Amino acid sequence: MPEWIYVAGRGHSGSTMLDAMLGNAPEIESVGELVSGMGRYEERCSCGETFDACPYWSAVRERFTARSGRAWDDAVSRSKGQAHIKAFPGTLFGAASKPWVTELLAITEAVGTAIADTAADVSQGSGSHSASETAVPPEHAPGAAASTDAAPSSDAGPNSEAPPRYVLDSSKEITRALFFLRFLPSSRVIHLMRHPVSILQSDYYRLKGGTGFKFLRRRYHPKRLFGPVLFVSVLTWITGNLLSDLARAFGRERFLRVRYEDIIGDPIGQIDRIEAFLGTPLGEVRERVRSGRSFSVGHNIGGNHMRLAGEFLFDPGKSRRGGLPVRFAVMAWLMTWPLLFAYGYGGRIVPPVPPAPPAPPTPGDS
Ligand SMILES: [Zn+2]
Repeated sequence: MPEWIYVAGRGHSGSTMLDAMLGNAPEIESVGELVSGMGRYEERCSCGETFDACPYWSAVRERFTARSGRAWDDAVSRSKGQAHIKAFPGTLFGAASKPWVTELLAITEAVGTAIADTAADVSQGSGSHSASETAVPPEHAPGAAASTDAAPSSDAGPNSEAPPRYVLDSSKEITRALFFLRFLPSSRVIHLMRHPVSILQSDYYRLKGGTGFKFLRRRYHPKRLFGPVLFVSVLTWITGNLLSDLARAFGRERFLRVRYEDIIGDPIGQIDRIEAFLGTPLGEVRERVRSGRSFSVGHNIGGNHMRLAGEFLFDPGKSRRGGLPVRFAVMAWLMTWPLLFAYGYGGRIVPPVPPAPPAPPTPGDS
């Protein structure tokens, strides 16, 4: 049975970037924002197919049902229901013996195993599970998976590679992170944090561009008067980070906080940190950052448009976006300065601009 790695954090904090980077490690299979994507059959997987038609996800759904005896939609509704912020108190205080906890644990384990076994098949077909453009081979029809389910770590068939040790879900919802920390001792949580002014910058850019603002799973499109929306955005930054601290209390050694600015400014140093935390080799990730090679994105769902490109380039320049009126930056700082000190950002109103990393070597260099 694979172990879960869960990425939590606010939107626009770099979770798609971290997901793409870690998904290129040999032992990690990343699937994007699992909870938001697993029930959207018409939305596109990063392979270009809809979630409904993607052979990878079709195989995952069939394996899940064969293994658990449950409908996929049952997994969708229970996973989504638990991950909603309104389920935070129930997840915080609920006893481990509650039926909803044991059922969601069984579902989560069956989903993870179905993903890992499917990844092993794809990997066998393409040579690397992260460069998974190959369709699931037909000999691994769902019936075949069901007959060998008794031995989870070796049920991937004679022609398959060993399933990946970890499955990475970057759904971001802090309530799901709390579930993992409280009830699934083998799981690990990476909490991504970004300076609130940078997040406002991103919100402002999207409001001006007409993309709107997402809040509690809904999208709002104010034509003007962005102030109240940006105020709410800062409030959710505060709430999300305080709740992450609360969740962390249930497993300090299984929780790692990573700041977006540190990934941009010192990617190798942060990869080293994450490698030590997870205990899985990330040499491939380091190599791609150093050489400027793109990261391949396999069958990711639920995230933003970046994953649809099929590959992802680590580009620190993207983090420098301007245009936010100063009054909003000051508002964010006034609301968050005690936390900014606590989280190591110091007293700066404007987030630290990380130094540009050295350019990758050109092919002719020795
Ligand atoms: Zn796909």
